Amino acid sequence: MLDCAIIGGGPAGLTAGLYATRGGLGNVVMFEKGMPGGQITQSSEIENYPGVTGEISGMDLMIPWPAQCQKFGLKHDMITVTRISKEGDIFKIHKEDGTLSEAHSVIVCTGSSPRRAGFAGEDELFGRGVSTCATCDGFFYKGKEVAVVGGGDTALEEALYLAKLCSKVYLIHRRDTFRAAPNTVERVKKTQNIEIILNSKPKEVYGDNMGVAGILVEDSKGGIRDIKVPGVFTFVGNDINNQTLIQEDGSFLCEMNKNGEVVVDISMKTSVKGLFAAGDMRIAAPKQVVCAAGDGAVAALQAIAYVDELLNH
Ligand code: FAD
Ligand code: NAP
Repeated sequence: MLDCAIIGGGPAGLTAGLYATRGGLGNVVMFEKGMPGGQITQSSEIENYPGVTGEISGMDLMIPWPAQCQKFGLKHDMITVTRISKEGDIFKIHKEDGTLSEAHSVIVCTGSSPRRAGFAGEDELFGRGVSTCATCDGFFYKGKEVAVVGGGDTALEEALYLAKLCSKVYLIHRRDTFRAAPNTVERVKKTQNIEIILNSKPKEVYGDNMGVAGILVEDSKGGIRDIKVPGVFTFVGNDINNQTLIQEDGSFLCEMNKNGEVVVDISMKTSVKGLFAAGDMRIAAPKQVVCAAGDGAVAALQAIAYVDELLNH
């Protein structure tokens, strides 16, 4: 029986593992389907992790994290978890090879995946000018022009954020009305350096090994506009990796919001005792490495207290 099962080995899961083991839980396993590190390992550069200065890739940032956890006893099982269920006080971790592990507590940190918009060049130039994170990459385009794709709250809020850093933001949306909240739409309309391009979709982003050079945008009548920008930000929705919480009858193990995010309180407690959620998959997540790591620490401290109460009182 595990004291704590951690599902996912990104910044949240690894930090949960560090705090859980170093804080005294004896038998802690982190189930991670691939190499630990999480989605930041796809990023060519991160410059907003406090205390880490100089040019560093996401991969290089994450390399020391697993070894630090293993020093305190965290075990890594490289496998996909298919489902987490609970019977009485015992959590069952169902794995893709058909085996089960049992645990007194669970911290789920399986993250999220930004959707791709699906235009030509998007995948090839992802991380080299095409981005899904303005907080992460906006600074690279300070004083330059950028394009934003999408018409939801995220696209418009990030366009407003980028408009403060960049000389101009082209906001490209496929319809003539926005999905975003009306007051956000009004703020965007009043922002002088945002040009709104409606009824239009990206056809192709182009560039070379050095990065993006521009984007071809097609309007509903087939007209093509060539916008020369070094940065293209796509905000076309986000998939929360919440599959492990889906039960056999299709319901979720714990309370979720309408976007599929796990509802937690400020202690990362879910609606189910002993089950904690941390990082990008929780409600109102800022989707930053430092925040995911902080969540992981909070969740682990709570898991330690929960297991102590369960076994000793
Ligand atoms: P994740 O990092 O998504 O980790 C989740 C882990 O769970 C993954 O390793 C996954 O393999 C594993 N997993 C998922 N499902 C299962 C399963 N069923 N079984 C087992 N394992 C599973 N943030 C910044 O602060 N600064 C930046 O500059 C920055 N740049 C970014 C650039 C890019 C290209 C991307 C994609 C993201 C960037 N971010 C940045 C955001 C940052 O990466 C995330 O906020 C952070 O990684 C979230 O951590 P997490 O632990 O919650 O989830
Ligand atoms: P979203 O609401 O699903 O919006 C996605 C946008 O991308 C839509 O405008 C959609 O166009 C467009 N889009 C989708 N696929 C596309 C494609 N392939 N090519 C071009 N455009 C495409 O996603 P979100 O903005 O990330 O928001 C997710 C949820 O979080 C929403 O419920 C939102 O309200 C919420 N949220 C709230 C806040 C806030 O309250 N402050 C902030 C951020 C997010 P269509 O409109 O034509 O479908």
